[in-house]
Parts: sequence; structure tokens; C-alpha cells
Amino acid sequence: MQDLLIDLDNTIYSETEEIFSQIDLKMKSFISTELNVTLEKAYIIQKKYFLKYGTTLRGLMINHNIKPSFFLKYVHDINLKPIKKNLDLKSELKRFKGKKIIFTNGTTEHAINVLKKVGVFKEIDNIFDIKDADYIPKPALLTYKKVVNKFKIIPHNTIMIDDIKANLVTAKKLGIGTVLVKKKTVSIK
Ligand SMILES: [Mg+2]
Repeated sequence: MQDLLIDLDNTIYSETEEIFSQIDLKMKSFISTELNVTLEKAYIIQKKYFLKYGTTLRGLMINHNIKPSFFLKYVHDINLKPIKKNLDLKSELKRFKGKKIIFTNGTTEHAINVLKKVGVFKEIDNIFDIKDADYIPKPALLTYKKVVNKFKIIPHNTIMIDDIKANLVTAKKLGIGTVLVKKKTVSIK
């Protein structure tokens, strides 16, 4: 039986622009306040860290000793209204018999809110979030090994679905099958 590792943001819902733009703005204002820099400067730092460390948070932790829970709570305090229910996804997930695990660089709290909004919360067995990853985000190999060990999944019998190519490259290295999502809600066939 196959198991699924499913990314959250931009994978489980397709209202990417509406949600990401809010998180993006929140990160910028957080950095501006905490590092006492202009919003313009904050945005440059935000993107620099994202590219260098995989998440903006990781860069803030390493370079500025920012407490992760403080940052995560702040940036995920957004309006999820744009996310629509997805009944097709719900029935597809229901039909799928293997384990269904959300594997996200965000928080469990954010994942639960999103999954409830999409209407698929009950179809998901587990959530592996950034805290479970000890704040080492995808695509770090170490984090994938933690997921595999925690849920006792067999890489060759697992499929990972994500909207970021680099995240799937690591999965492939472990022998996990991959599906790249392109600005569309995930569909499992
Ligand atoms: Mg994503």
C-alpha cells in the first residue's frame, strides 16, 4: 500500500496569491519591527534569507536569534477566507487507503486551519510541521529522514506531492516517488 506525503501551502489549495501575499507582508513587517529597519530593507533581508536558508525563519534564527514560535504565530495570523472548499480533493483523499501525511515548512496550527477550510482535515492522518523538523526546513535531507522514521513509511512505497521542485529532488534521493503541483489544487489518481 502506498503512503502520501503532501505539502500544504500552494499544494492543498490553489488560492496561492491571496494567501501568500498576506504571509509575505506579515514577514516583511515582522522583520522591519524586530530588526528595526525600513520595510524596503526588511523585504530584501526576507528574500535573501529565503534563498540562502530555505525559509526566512531559518535565516532569522541563525543571524538574529529570533524565537521561532514568535515569528510563526505572527506570520500565520492571516485571513483564510479566500480558500474554498474542495470536495473533489476530499473524495479523492477518502478513497486513498494509505497514510496521508501533511509535510509542511509551516506550523501545525496553520495546517489545521487550512485543512478545515479546504474541508479535508478529517482525511489527513498526521501533520509533520517545522517544529517536528527542529526548524530545519525542506529540502534538507535530514528532515525527510525524520519524517520517514517518525511515521515508519517505506520510501519506495511513498509518493510526495509538492509545488516546489527542490523539495521533490530530495524526496527522489531517498527513493520517494514525486508529483509536482503547478498552481493547481492537487489531484491524486
Ligand atoms: Mg508549498
